[in-house]
Amino acid sequence: MKVLAKMLLVGATLAAFFWRDSFDAGSLRGARVLVTGASTGIGEQLAYCYARLGAQVVITARRENVLQQVARRCAQLGAQKALYVTGDMATTSDPSRVVKFAVDELGGLDYLVLNHIGRYSFSPWSGDVHHVRGLMEVNFLSYVQLASAALPSLEKSKGSIVVVSSLLGKVSTPFTAPYTATKFAVNGFFCTLQHELAMRSSDVSLTISILGLVDTESAMEKVSGRTRVVPYPAGEAALHVVRAGSLRQKESFYPWYTHLVCLVRDWCPFFRDVIIRNSYY
Ligand code: NDP
Repeated sequence: MKVLAKMLLVGATLAAFFWRDSFDAGSLRGARVLVTGASTGIGEQLAYCYARLGAQVVITARRENVLQQVARRCAQLGAQKALYVTGDMATTSDPSRVVKFAVDELGGLDYLVLNHIGRYSFSPWSGDVHHVRGLMEVNFLSYVQLASAALPSLEKSKGSIVVVSSLLGKVSTPFTAPYTATKFAVNGFFCTLQHELAMRSSDVSLTISILGLVDTESAMEKVSGRTRVVPYPAGEAALHVVRAGSLRQKESFYPWYTHLVCLVRDWCPFFRDVIIRNSYY
């Protein structure tokens, strides 16, 4: 009994040590942040989180009228600066133009937050290769371009790249083949970049946030009534990503079950696949 109590105590102490909350909200005051895909959903909430913490934010997406409103709200919430720039991440020129705008306007960059995604439908694979190519451009290749364009400024500021990724970049599920392919590509590329940054002792941190289902309008439109998976709030997901980036974590998981799924993913493939297939209608 005593041995068990000691083991529990040691376990609790280790858990408290590893999960201690060292997030310093003040560290983001004045931070120069570029958030992509910030007109709606998690990106919009990310912009509001940074704004509340007194950061200087540049937001980007395609729709100018919506960006204008989000930027205005950011200013009301306390952003030291709240600017927007329109950009279409399906083009090859806009990613570097957007980064240049942010660096010029903010006088450098501390955080590049890669979040945008193109439209896709929740449906069985139809054979449309053109759509996969287009989605790769928006969801993956533009991330690579944005990161490449921002790295020199981030090296100077000892800044951070924060990648908003998905559990579907770790585990495959039905009805999302093109999207899943882009997220696997994102995870693969940025995990490799993490190694290379570490091997050359770069001061740039790279955080990959793995998210489960979040209740954004676009996600709910796709999956409502078609899955048993419970969605989590976008505001909470955004705060999680902001904290993980600020703590310079390599990988972060939201909500809790995403980490568990990644840990047990390959233990029992048969049961994993049965559970996955039974999670969708
Ligand atoms: P939304 O669909 O709500 O938002 C997508 C954003 O990307 C919008 O701001 C949109 O603005 C912008 N966008 C779309 N196409 C382009 C383009 N061609 N060029 C530039 N910007 C574009 O996405 P979510 O908030 O749901 O997801 C955000 C991130 O979170 C994504 O990386 C996603 O993979 C990840 N995630 C989301 C989950 C969820 O359940 N919601 C689960 C797991 C991960 P505009 O139309 O104005 O261009």
